[in-house]
Amino acid sequence: MSETLENLLQEDRLFPPPAELAANANVTASAFDDAAADRLAFWADKAHRLDWSKEWDQVLDWSNPPFAKWFVGGRLNIAYNCLDRHVLNGIGDRVAIHWEGEPGDTRTITYADLHTEVCRAANALTDLGVTAGDRVAIYMPMIPEAAVAMLACARIGATHSVVFGGFSKDALAGRIRDASAKVVITADGGYRRGAPSALKPTVDESVAECPTIEKVLVVRRTGQDVDWQDGRDVWWHDVVDNASSEHEAQAFDAEHPLFILYTSGTTAKPKGILHTTGGYLTQASYTHHAVFDLKPENDVYWCTADIGWVTGHSYIVYGPLSNGATQVMYEGTPDTPHRGRFWEIVEKYKVTILYTAPTAIRTFAKWGDDIPAQFDLSSLRLLGSVGEPINPEAWMWYREHIGGDRCPIVDTWWQTETGAIMVSPLPGVTVTKPGSAMGPLPGISAEVVDDAGNPVGNGGGGYLVLNEPWPSMLRTIWGDDDRFIETYWSRFAAQGYYFAGDGAKKDDDGALWLLGRVDDVMLVSGHNISTTEVESALVAHAAVAEAAVVGATDPTTGQAIVAFVILRGGAEVDEATLREHVAKTLGPICKPRSIQVVAELPKTRSGKIMRRLLRDIAEKRTMGDVTTLQDSSVMDLISAGVQAGK
Ligand code: ATP
Ligand code: MG
Repeated sequence: MSETLENLLQEDRLFPPPAELAANANVTASAFDDAAADRLAFWADKAHRLDWSKEWDQVLDWSNPPFAKWFVGGRLNIAYNCLDRHVLNGIGDRVAIHWEGEPGDTRTITYADLHTEVCRAANALTDLGVTAGDRVAIYMPMIPEAAVAMLACARIGATHSVVFGGFSKDALAGRIRDASAKVVITADGGYRRGAPSALKPTVDESVAECPTIEKVLVVRRTGQDVDWQDGRDVWWHDVVDNASSEHEAQAFDAEHPLFILYTSGTTAKPKGILHTTGGYLTQASYTHHAVFDLKPENDVYWCTADIGWVTGHSYIVYGPLSNGATQVMYEGTPDTPHRGRFWEIVEKYKVTILYTAPTAIRTFAKWGDDIPAQFDLSSLRLLGSVGEPINPEAWMWYREHIGGDRCPIVDTWWQTETGAIMVSPLPGVTVTKPGSAMGPLPGISAEVVDDAGNPVGNGGGGYLVLNEPWPSMLRTIWGDDDRFIETYWSRFAAQGYYFAGDGAKKDDDGALWLLGRVDDVMLVSGHNISTTEVESALVAHAAVAEAAVVGATDPTTGQAIVAFVILRGGAEVDEATLREHVAKTLGPICKPRSIQVVAELPKTRSGKIMRRLLRDIAEKRTMGDVTTLQDSSVMDLISAGVQAGK
């Protein structure tokens, strides 16, 4: 990419924090002053929100960049911080998890219950031969045992590697091999779209290729038939339910490996991101407290992510539980048994804080305003978004139709690599703009720079970089320090910046706008155009629910913009009208060469649009790696449509 991204989309709508929220906010503007005065002292103060069995000697050791050590010499136990200390502080009776199964079965789990379960599971894992430093793969549906398994690993110092339950045999086997895992924790199956969906057969096939696996621990969820290998396979209800509920948590070094998690695979082969203990929990816990303004006595928090993604790690398990939150955990899909399921759950549990993804929001908008309107959503007080840039019109729809025009929206930018939220509004402080993640959190340092690494300044576009280390930063790519340096630290090696891989701009007020992957930026007649801005212009048309654009090789312009759109239910519009609409919104340079109406877009299993596959179609190439694709038949449908000239 040459020079900088164009800065095209204008946004004048402003939303100040609700007065009452601002007056009672967990975090106020003074946090920015504290962090600016002494960033490391600021993070040391946040680390003191946790219980340490031994205080650190040094907040940050950055003597060997990019290999950071945070809270050097400190010792703590993560599970103790998420469970034991709450029970000791007298809140054992508080509900930790309101679990809702897809078929409608429910479980209510208090902090005391969760503590007991995790202690039993920790003892059971120890009996199975797992010791500190071993790797354990977790391949589970969204049932409470998934969180119990993660916490039990953390409790005994085993490093977990959660693999999303929708992944195939090859994806699971590859991840088990990469981490040399010793045990897999799984279930017979889980409920998806109204039917039991088996997991154990995939584990059996994977483990056949993975000699490091000694034991397979299986939760019975669906009751479906499973093959059984005696000596290797053990039922959770046999070994965990019969284990002692007494377990004393031992403290681990602040830099002890907590988990490996593979990135979503939106742009490339997934990387095994390594996170450690003290810095990770400090930032996951603090950001959950700050960004969601969590009041643990009153709030009911719901993050709709799957535990297989980093969002599930930091904002279902470690952040909320370390803060003593009461949360909802849901097993299934948003349209089972009906398209109002999410709103029914919000109404039932009186959810106050909802954290979901743009892909879900755009789907709800496509399904129609009348569906959420049938439910009482008045308990909601704060909404969050994560995973992709949220188009301004999707943001407005979320605010109006889910947030009743009263809830602030926090658009949170972060990555598997960053471990926790980096850029986001603070709900009691920030005046937000629809579609903007606004600015770095207190204690976080981010910049938008040009090719040479110089800040672009207000009104400019370029690359998002993180220019100071942060507590929950990845420590390396598992087993591959060279790839770690090459992927994240080589682009701006001279400056020592972390390169996130995302394009961004600063508007005239200095607010940050994420503009999509740098790999996806389109170069049209010498102009660098972001996918996000063209997509947002398309979504701003009343007929369009969702859009994906890519740059395809073009003999005259270098690249030309090719768009794929999903229309809102019942809407009709012709291609010329949409092309004109984009030209009028962003300028004639952004007018797509073609726009194709499609029924679905290719997405990763975490719901992110995979533009590289659309680019393959637009340039009539054979398709690249599709292993992380949610539904590969989508690609056949789209390419058939393109060939038919539709
Ligand atoms: P891979 O790195 O394997 O291609 P991935 O980047 O999709 O996969 P994740 O770590 O799950 O894997 O996603 C992080 C990315 O998601 C960010 O780099 C960014 O592109 C996007 N993202 C997340 N939150 C936001 C947000 N609020 N606004 C804009 N983009 C976001
Ligand atoms: Mg990434």
